[in-house]
Amino acid sequence: MYRILKLSNAKFRRDLTCFPFLCQPPLRTISRTSKNYSEEGNQDGNVLRKRLKETADTLIIGGGCVGVSLAYHLAKAGQKDVVLLEKTELTAGSTWHAAGLTTYYHPGINLKKVHYDSIKLYEQLEAETGQAVGFHQPGSIRIASSALRVDEIKYQMSRTHWHPSPQYYITPEKIHELFPLLNMNKVLAGLYTTGDGHIDPYSLTMALAAGARMYGAQIYTQAPVEALTPVASGKWDVKTPHGTIRANRIVNASGLCKPPWFNIFYLIPDGARFRHLGDSDML
Ligand SMILES: Cc1cc2nc3c(=O)[nH]c(=O)nc-3n(C[C@H](O)[C@H](O)[C@H](O)COP(=O)(O)OP(=O)(O)OC[C@H]3O[C@@H](n4cnc5c(N)ncnc54)[C@H](O)[C@@H]3O)c2cc1C
Repeated sequence: MYRILKLSNAKFRRDLTCFPFLCQPPLRTISRTSKNYSEEGNQDGNVLRKRLKETADTLIIGGGCVGVSLAYHLAKAGQKDVVLLEKTELTAGSTWHAAGLTTYYHPGINLKKVHYDSIKLYEQLEAETGQAVGFHQPGSIRIASSALRVDEIKYQMSRTHWHPSPQYYITPEKIHELFPLLNMNKVLAGLYTTGDGHIDPYSLTMALAAGARMYGAQIYTQAPVEALTPVASGKWDVKTPHGTIRANRIVNASGLCKPPWFNIFYLIPDGARFRHLGDSDML
């Protein structure tokens, strides 16, 4: 039923260059930190080939902000034996490309809660882990230049009290006061969200990694997953060049790169995103 593609290393590398700009190592400068996490895989001796255990409870594939954040949250919640495998270096996928804009805003109330929790996490992560995250919160204004957009802002204001996220309906005069450089032609109103801003995605991921390790997760870099094999017990054999790990559960956080075992996710009912990207032949 499952078809696992076992490819040679050369083919594997070729597949991962499908989006070469997403697969390069990070070039961002590292924020000043109290600890140096730039050798994240090695700073505490975490080289996969030296791993003694051949099992894991949760195994996360991919060391972008999503995978590392998951490792942090699971380990902090008390889950034992969380293992993360990253094929090159942490943030080497799309994470280090991100502008890092952060917002409380979301039109849907559920994801708005996720945005709120994320910002609250970013505000305290440096104190928790000792790793600076480069978080700045100047606020943002969403501009309405049509009657329809004004209605949308008013609708969003009617939902303000679902969450503690700050947001204000502001007039053109207030917009001009906050941002005098803006061309005010056609500006009818604005939604002002204090606390919005930007963060350094590289440093954020390193802080989450520091926290994940602090709570007991193990993060391995230079550890590409080459194949996934379901076994009868419901567990998964995760193959790497350094050996195979048997995991109770796996999480695919490998981003937009299309690894050789990608096709297996066609079997997951809610994998619409994967199916869509796979069918597009873009990856
Ligand atoms: C130009 C740009 C600007 C952006 N701006 C913003 C913004 O302002 N705000 C915002 O919120 N978002 C922004 N984003 C989106 C954001 O960067 C992504 O949503 C986020 O980085 C996705 O993280 P991820 O962990 O899912 O994926 P990735 O960061 O791609 O991580 C996936 C990781 O999996 C690893 N991997 C892949 N295959 C394997 C394998 N076989 N074995 C082991 N590891 C593997 C990769 O090496 C990679 O490190 C931007 C993105 C881009 C490209």
